[in-house]
Amino acid sequence: MTTQLFAQQRDDGTVDAGVVKKRAIQCALSRICGSCGKSLTWPVAFVGSAEEAAALLFAFPPLHPSCAEELLRDAPGEQVLVRTGGFELVRPTRRGDPVSFRPNSVIEDD
Ligand SMILES: [Zn+2]
Repeated sequence: MTTQLFAQQRDDGTVDAGVVKKRAIQCALSRICGSCGKSLTWPVAFVGSAEEAAALLFAFPPLHPSCAEELLRDAPGEQVLVRTGGFELVRPTRRGDPVSFRPNSVIEDD
């Protein structure tokens, strides 16, 4: 199965291995899922490395929890999932650097 994630699709239809910055910003401002491109619901989930989870700073845009779980299945290993009630977009301090996402009010698993 080829997964085409919303946040990795360039305007010309090609796919970025990382995250397309324009899409990442779009996800944040329009509150849409980085995987399916539909409106986010509550809670929001982030998927990233253990380091990203520890720092609470993610490169990949917010996701539906179900989309996040699907991503984890497709990319097993060190990836972790964090659920949160909200997030903020962190703009880079240096021009040209990627944006990142800071979840707030992290929801702990039972
Ligand atoms: Zn989704």
